[in-house]
Amino acid sequence: MRMHVEPSILDELAIVDEDLSDDWRQRAECARYAGLVDFFPARGESAREAKAICAACPVQRECLDYALQSKAAYGVWGGLTERERHRMNRDRRRTERRVRL
Ligand code: SF4
Repeated sequence: MRMHVEPSILDELAIVDEDLSDDWRQRAECARYAGLVDFFPARGESAREAKAICAACPVQRECLDYALQSKAAYGVWGGLTERERHRMNRDRRRTERRVRL
């Protein structure tokens, strides 16, 4: 029987940056759920389980900052889906424009 193993956020990070030593990624809560919880749900699939794990993660802020800076296109990062991050970025840009006026 072939078992489907879900990729974790850390798998994605390892592709982006192979130096995982001594930083926030060492404390990522999702590492404990690798292969068990899908942090990259397909469109229409629930992200609820992944978001619940993020809610208890001690490095949620750092993870979200990383995802926003690196423009992570897929997955749940820092407790937000790609659509929610996109919305957050859009709202920030609008606020910045209003402040400049
Ligand atoms: S916030 Fe979520 S995705 Fe980010 S490191 Fe923590 S558990 Fe993983």
